[in-house]
Amino acid sequence: MSRRPHQLSKSRFTAGLQCHRQLWWRTHEPDAPELVPDAGTQAIFDTGTLVGEIARDHVPGGTLIDLPYDDFAGKLAATKAALATDTPAIYEASVSADGVFVAVDILQRDGDGWRLVEVKSSTSVKPQHVPDAAIQVHALRAAGLTVTGAEVMVLNSACRYPDLSNLFRREDVSADVEASLPAVAAEVKTQLAVLAGPLPEVETGPHCNAPYACPFRSRCWAEVPEHHVSTLYYQSANAQKYLDQGWVTIFDLPDGSVKNPTADRQRRAVQAGRMIVEGALARSLERFRAPLAYFDFETVMPAIPVWDGCGPYTQVPVQFSCHVEAEDGTLTHHEWVPEGPGDPRAEVAARVVEACRGAACVVAYNSTFEKRALEHLAAAVPFRAAELRDVIARMVDLLPVVRDHVYHPDFGGSFSIKAVLPALVPEFSYEGLEVAKGDDAANVLATLLFAPETMTPLERSARREALLEYCKLDTLAMVKILHRLRELAAAGAGA
Ligand code: SF4
Repeated sequence: MSRRPHQLSKSRFTAGLQCHRQLWWRTHEPDAPELVPDAGTQAIFDTGTLVGEIARDHVPGGTLIDLPYDDFAGKLAATKAALATDTPAIYEASVSADGVFVAVDILQRDGDGWRLVEVKSSTSVKPQHVPDAAIQVHALRAAGLTVTGAEVMVLNSACRYPDLSNLFRREDVSADVEASLPAVAAEVKTQLAVLAGPLPEVETGPHCNAPYACPFRSRCWAEVPEHHVSTLYYQSANAQKYLDQGWVTIFDLPDGSVKNPTADRQRRAVQAGRMIVEGALARSLERFRAPLAYFDFETVMPAIPVWDGCGPYTQVPVQFSCHVEAEDGTLTHHEWVPEGPGDPRAEVAARVVEACRGAACVVAYNSTFEKRALEHLAAAVPFRAAELRDVIARMVDLLPVVRDHVYHPDFGGSFSIKAVLPALVPEFSYEGLEVAKGDDAANVLATLLFAPETMTPLERSARREALLEYCKLDTLAMVKILHRLRELAAAGAGA
């Protein structure tokens, strides 16, 4: 049996709270291309599924309603049967009432009633979790169940592997849920009426991005012109102010209207149609002394910790690339990527120390990230701590050099290496790489380490090569950018 087409669910209801137009599309066009998850979104979904499954072990002894996704009638019948037993909990307990179908993560027996436990893969309870729980309490009570309270169960930041006994913590949200129930009942009626009618008109606004980015933005938002004021560096809070003044693009902004010096350099470069280089660039480059080790880490952040001392989402450096440039300009490349689920940190630490040995400067692009990763390794591999901290001491950051001295109109308001490289060194770019973003790399790395069985040996080898190629380009990009900056500095300010 399928759900009635206009029935609400937890996800539809929360989408409807954000926007009735989004709710309408999600319900009437469930196969819309915008709703097909990309690899990053799918990875987030998979994490949520894994966390939900593990959460059940922390409320043990319950009955799982384990039926195909669309067997709604079967789920309702199985839940009814489980409710009639003395089971201490029901996982995926399904009810349908008042036009709403919900499958509750964990319904835990509490005296003569039941307690709702909503499992989240985050490490904190967020305001948007309250309506998630409230719509379920509303449906459970409409179905005739006694609900004694509602809790949100999240991952516990204080948990440290190997002791996973405190992997979760539960927060009681009963008071907030009870307070919201009258509004939930009214909103259910409104949303059901919306779904029975034509596509509603809704103005675009901040709600399109909060609490979640709406997948239908390309349908509602007019195309933003190039150099729109919203692309000004670090000025998103001021974008509406500029628009209210009638300044739509950076070309419209008069002298003195942008206070942030970096954003103002962007304004001047865009209006002049050329790159701006500040006179102090040459001086800022003096610190970059050969031999130089250009260095970059890739990391994984498992929701469920797997290595000693790690908590949920601890960021662990597992792969690196390092180009060493000798005083005569000769380049030597070092790289490493692990395979399999074993703790790679001792090996990574040893190889990092070796790669950077002898370098006067270790160049990073946004060094805060690399320094934090090196500190993590120092804590995880104490006998290497002194050598790893010596790498930190030699680290110099290329990003602020670009940000504070150079703006090319093609940066588009970003100083990420992916934005800066093709503008400064057009013959190099990340286009065409199989792995092309840090997030992609993290997902591929996680699959390679923790789920290698999901790939054939040939796929594993191809993914490994793609990761190495991506990380290698990150450090080669730094080499090329530094060389280009030196050329610009030699050519003088204003080039
Ligand atoms: S883009 Fe905005 S207005 Fe359009 S459906 Fe999404 S949330 Fe609603």
